[in-house]
Amino acid sequence: MYLRNTKIALFMLTSLGLSACGNSQSPALTEEPALTAEDAKKFIDDAQAELAALQLPAAQAEWAYQTYINQDTAAVTAHLSGKLTARASELAKESAKFNNVEVDPDTRRKLNLMRNGLVMPAPADEAKAARLSQLGSELGGMYGSGKYCRSEDECFRLTEMANIMATERDHELLLEMWEGWRQVSPPMKELFAEQAELANEGAKELGLADVSELWRGSYDMPADAFAAELDRLWGQVQPFYEALHCHVRAELGEQYGEDVVSQDKPIPAHLLGNMWGQTWGNIYDIVKPEEKLDVIDVTAALAQHDYDEVKMVKQAESFFSSLGFEPLPETFWQRSQFSQPADRDVVCHASAWNIDSKDDLRIKMCIQKTGEEFAVIHHELGHNYYQRAYNHLPLLYQGSANDGFHEAIGDTIALSITPKYLKQIGLVDQVPDASNDIGMLLKLALDKIAFVPFGLLVDQWRWKVLSGEVTPEQYNTAWWELREKYQGLMAPVERPADAFDPGAKYHVPANTPYTRYFLAHILQFQFHKSLCEIAGDEGPVHRCSIYGSAEAGKALNDMLELGQSKTWQEALQTLTGKDQMDATAILDYFAPLKGWLDEQNKDRQCGW
Ligand SMILES: [Zn+2]
Repeated sequence: MYLRNTKIALFMLTSLGLSACGNSQSPALTEEPALTAEDAKKFIDDAQAELAALQLPAAQAEWAYQTYINQDTAAVTAHLSGKLTARASELAKESAKFNNVEVDPDTRRKLNLMRNGLVMPAPADEAKAARLSQLGSELGGMYGSGKYCRSEDECFRLTEMANIMATERDHELLLEMWEGWRQVSPPMKELFAEQAELANEGAKELGLADVSELWRGSYDMPADAFAAELDRLWGQVQPFYEALHCHVRAELGEQYGEDVVSQDKPIPAHLLGNMWGQTWGNIYDIVKPEEKLDVIDVTAALAQHDYDEVKMVKQAESFFSSLGFEPLPETFWQRSQFSQPADRDVVCHASAWNIDSKDDLRIKMCIQKTGEEFAVIHHELGHNYYQRAYNHLPLLYQGSANDGFHEAIGDTIALSITPKYLKQIGLVDQVPDASNDIGMLLKLALDKIAFVPFGLLVDQWRWKVLSGEVTPEQYNTAWWELREKYQGLMAPVERPADAFDPGAKYHVPANTPYTRYFLAHILQFQFHKSLCEIAGDEGPVHRCSIYGSAEAGKALNDMLELGQSKTWQEALQTLTGKDQMDATAILDYFAPLKGWLDEQNKDRQCGW
């Protein structure tokens, strides 16, 4: 994930406006007939200057808080981000006075971006706005400092528990960790419901039905058309997902016994190598092909070559340098957090920042020396290079073409971490031949394809919650209905009445919209395919690395530097020549694996 500037949930100028005429509304403000296009321009300029001045200290305070959670840093960040959100909400509402003023397309786009740039719009009432900000901090803090204690003196933090989920194969221990982490979230439920209520008040003041309309309406197309677009993309991937699910369930059944993994039911969610069952790459050893395959163990290779955290980041930087991007600034190395501090609570969830919207780039991670984290570092740096590519634009245009683009860029780069690349940088001696590719593709599909329905359902849940279709009493059952419907997973044990399992997923208490990750999983394969063509790679697309291709680097930068000054359709066209998202690129990438899975599944009963 990335943070462009400040408080994750409260205000990010990263989402896109609706088309100029869409979603018109009756502003609460009285319209002054004398307003002109000049007034609109001046309003935009002043607003950008004012927001920039509020953002910087808010971003600094948020960084201090996330890298040192305590009462004081929490109070300061709540105060400053509260001020920023309140002012941004006021300006968003005020921008509506230009709804009927004839302005040039550029000004109209900025006005729309201003209105749609809120994630959790604050109500005008000052006390309510302050409360909304406080709730955001409290929820974030509960997640960040959350732990599970087995006994009085034996506690686990999330990083440790995530490790256990990834590597242990004792299903009772996995269940203990799975349930243990979910003890963090029941106290969040009431605060979350209150937060939704307050933000909905803010959304109503913007002339919207609720926050979900705001979130769905930020994609250069009408909110309902966008939802339909998501369905279309999911429909393209679904058959592949079901084949993968079928194989994984069968293999888990063999590993743990069919009394634990029943073959005609959804898969119990604690056995997939991940705390949320969202990516499954960690159970590759359980589901891998029987024939002996030569699959590179990047974790082992990193250890063998004495990679520490800094060296891992330096290596990722050199990838971008090979594409023609400038090196990261010195301050990046001084100010980033690479390792988890031993003496205090921090938010470990990886993120990338541009504190001053110019060149104060940083990443915040608790890097583990694994192949997975090596890819995460490439991903986070992708955010940083994107942030820098558009830092010359007016503030309102500094953002992702749509919010999926930011997530996709980092992942696109990570797709180039192929055996060929690892050999080029000296991490491995030999590139395994193509007969070994099924292993590599399966391992990657366990992360990329398995993730797609999860990426979709988190906001399916939240849209229903924010629109009031799902009430607080139904939060948890609605969550599990979606988990079953899309992912074919189920809770391994009956959930207690007070359970609030969505709260155990970072993006829910942190109020980060999640559809971006779904989009990113579709887009990254589209980007990768185009970049490989531009780089002149002639092999199969899953073996391609754009490392060292200045042509690909330039094509990538041409898209990145647009920020959100153009629609995402235009940005997409710049790189791929097409203005529509298309999941066939992900299917093409994994095509050899689909044949293999169908063969494995031919005598199995699939579905749930
Ligand atoms: Zn990211």
